[in-house]
Amino acid sequence: MNYDLNSKKVLADFVRDLPKVELHLHIEGTLEPELLLSLAERHRIAMPYANIEMARAAYEFDDLQSFLNVYYLGTSVLREERDFYELTQAYMQRCKQQHIIHTEIFFDPQTHLSHGVPLDVVMGGIQSALREAELEWGISSALILCFERDREAESTVGLLEDALRIGGIAGVGLDSAELGNPPRKFQEVFKLAKSLGLHRVAHAGEEGPPDYIWEALDTLEVERIDHGVRCMEDPLLVQRLLATKIPLTVCPFSNVELKVFPDLHSHNLGDLLAAGLSATINSDDPAYFGGYLNDNIVETMDCLSLGVEDLIVLQKNAIEASFCSASRKLEMNHLLEKYIKNYTPIS
Ligand SMILES: [Zn+2]
Repeated sequence: MNYDLNSKKVLADFVRDLPKVELHLHIEGTLEPELLLSLAERHRIAMPYANIEMARAAYEFDDLQSFLNVYYLGTSVLREERDFYELTQAYMQRCKQQHIIHTEIFFDPQTHLSHGVPLDVVMGGIQSALREAELEWGISSALILCFERDREAESTVGLLEDALRIGGIAGVGLDSAELGNPPRKFQEVFKLAKSLGLHRVAHAGEEGPPDYIWEALDTLEVERIDHGVRCMEDPLLVQRLLATKIPLTVCPFSNVELKVFPDLHSHNLGDLLAAGLSATINSDDPAYFGGYLNDNIVETMDCLSLGVEDLIVLQKNAIEASFCSASRKLEMNHLLEKYIKNYTPIS
């Protein structure tokens, strides 16, 4: 290629239509304030926001707890299958706009069950929007059932069995408040998932220490680490991640919003790449963290002065780290290479 991405304008133009893969996305974290208010009205659920401006202001939180408060309040408006369909459909529309060709989506069934919403309602709505996006726009996807680590682990085996009866689950994950909730609590359900041939991922090493990453690898036998940015504090762990080619799904905007790094300039994505780790960029909870995938890529690359070669590495890492078939990975790599070859920079 005979261009560079030093200009932010060229960078944004290049990224806009670049075929991309997203691997760390909580569907509940895509609930925009407009949809939140319209669903609250549909179900006559009182919200502490009288109008859209107040709802938008509430999305400007200043720490993890205030984020979780707004986030869980948001999930309380998701009641019927059509709500989950509309939520997912809106995100898939974003994928189309942002040229995301494959996405792997987390959902938190325990939260919805605690609101009295049955699992088939949640999964039915999400899955019909995913199927539609694949048929209409060719966007492939995988659905990952997340266990919330700050809830009890006892009911998770039954939950996984219920989900398998409904079908369409590619794997299991572990999310929510990390500190004080080490991965080993969920060893039994992850063991079951492995025995059933399901993929396994876990949030670790974002707020929590590198020990949690070790534990996710050793006791949960995960294939990817979500976040994992604190692995750099432990050289032996970095060696392990390199030797086993375990990918990291890094979410820069989220890390800054939740104060893992003071700003994007201080983010260690460049160090992760320089160490040879299989890092990827993702948006996590984009409605709450200030932007979707393209925004995360453009702002982070610009702040860290990453070049086009880094961007291509990030995208190839994401394709390889996905749970797609070998033929779909090949197809996505072809699309990526074709785009890079044919791209003409704007002047
Ligand atoms: Zn996450």
